Amino acid sequence: MGICIKLPKNTKLKTIAGAQEPYYNNTIEHQFVCKEMPPEVNKIIMLVDMESFYASVEVAKNPSLRGKPVVVCGDPKQRSGIVLAATREAKTLGVKTGMTAGECTRLSSQLVFVRPHMQDYIDTSLKITKILEKFTDRIRPYSIDEQFLDMTGCEKLFGNPKEMAKLIIKKVWESTGIRCRVGIGENPLQAKMACDRFAKKNKDGFFILSHKNYAIYTWPLPIKDLFGVGSRMENNFFNIGIRTIGHLAVLPRESLKRRWGINGEILWLNARGIDYSIIEETSRAKEIRKSVSHSITLPRDYRVKKEIEVVLLEITEEVCRRARSIKKAGRVVHVCCRGADFELATGFSRQVRTFEPTAITMDVYSYALKLFYTYWDRRPIRALGISLSDLTDFKGAQLSLINRKEKEIALTKAMDLARSRYGITSLFWLSSLAPGGLLFERATKIGGHEA
Ligand SMILES: [Mg+2]
Repeated sequence: MGICIKLPKNTKLKTIAGAQEPYYNNTIEHQFVCKEMPPEVNKIIMLVDMESFYASVEVAKNPSLRGKPVVVCGDPKQRSGIVLAATREAKTLGVKTGMTAGECTRLSSQLVFVRPHMQDYIDTSLKITKILEKFTDRIRPYSIDEQFLDMTGCEKLFGNPKEMAKLIIKKVWESTGIRCRVGIGENPLQAKMACDRFAKKNKDGFFILSHKNYAIYTWPLPIKDLFGVGSRMENNFFNIGIRTIGHLAVLPRESLKRRWGINGEILWLNARGIDYSIIEETSRAKEIRKSVSHSITLPRDYRVKKEIEVVLLEITEEVCRRARSIKKAGRVVHVCCRGADFELATGFSRQVRTFEPTAITMDVYSYALKLFYTYWDRRPIRALGISLSDLTDFKGAQLSLINRKEKEIALTKAMDLARSRYGITSLFWLSSLAPGGLLFERATKIGGHEA
């Protein structure tokens, strides 16, 4: 394959040992041959990215905000008072993520500030995954607002890649009121580059890169635009005369490897649009099916038995509730505990097999408690976690559940129903009110943010 790259007139570049000759003089066009061609794959990989995700969710929730310069920002008086997201309208006024609320106010007085609602973003993200699952079962969530899809072989159902992208954009918009952009490539790297560098900037909201056109579109771009190049690498590259992605791509792979090891080699592959990773059936979904777990880092060191028991019960309840919600019961209870003293590396991680598959809180709790007291060294603890694994379908488990007192099952079901409708604090074990209980504190926070 012959490729042309255009360099500005009078470009002067330092010579790097081993680089291909034509690249170093300053004539306008250079031709060379890509020797390192990737295997022919012909896959259809997409990266679906939500536009200004947090801000878009807020606008979708409150349509009166549509068209307004909305800024999602923590408490302006707190350290958290930085911009997490901003709508297109706010961005045109100069707002950027990471700015402080104060800096924004100086830019414009029309800005509408909204506090973040992490739970809504998580819920919407999961909802979008569900929508995308209607297109393919090969999905890899990449971040809260980005997901990779492997659409290979779906042409008969949804048309060519262009038609697929349009359909996905339309479906997501109709069901959530959020605009998404789609990068399309023959591997995840190309899809990511197509999305970040082109789809986000064009009107259609999608862009297709392939082994055929990758060099034509990406090689003229500045080196910082290459996926994986941070400011440090940008500097390193700059120092040896690499200004564009094309400059990097034409260097011998070995020289990159020698200088920066595996990282240099990966960037070299990125510059050529080569990426061997594959999108499997959601590995995370598989993982979730194998076990259900929950853990907490405690707000302070716990040392009193009673307090630890309270938290242990709360965690157990959460794990069991999650297991029941996906209609699973487990045969292995695992408890892990991290000590407060980092130097002594205290704590343990132990598991036990249950007598029968269960997802009944008090059942699992009795196993967890036994494990805990067997292995706890009586030193203060910092974090606690419980998991339920070797899951079987609830159907199988129901048989053994039938043998239980009907009251116990009815109570569990009623509690789950109430909590799914009215929130996890609508019904709780009385012990959560005792010292050490974290239920109420946790219920209002997700990942350190207000829910
Ligand atoms: Mg985004």
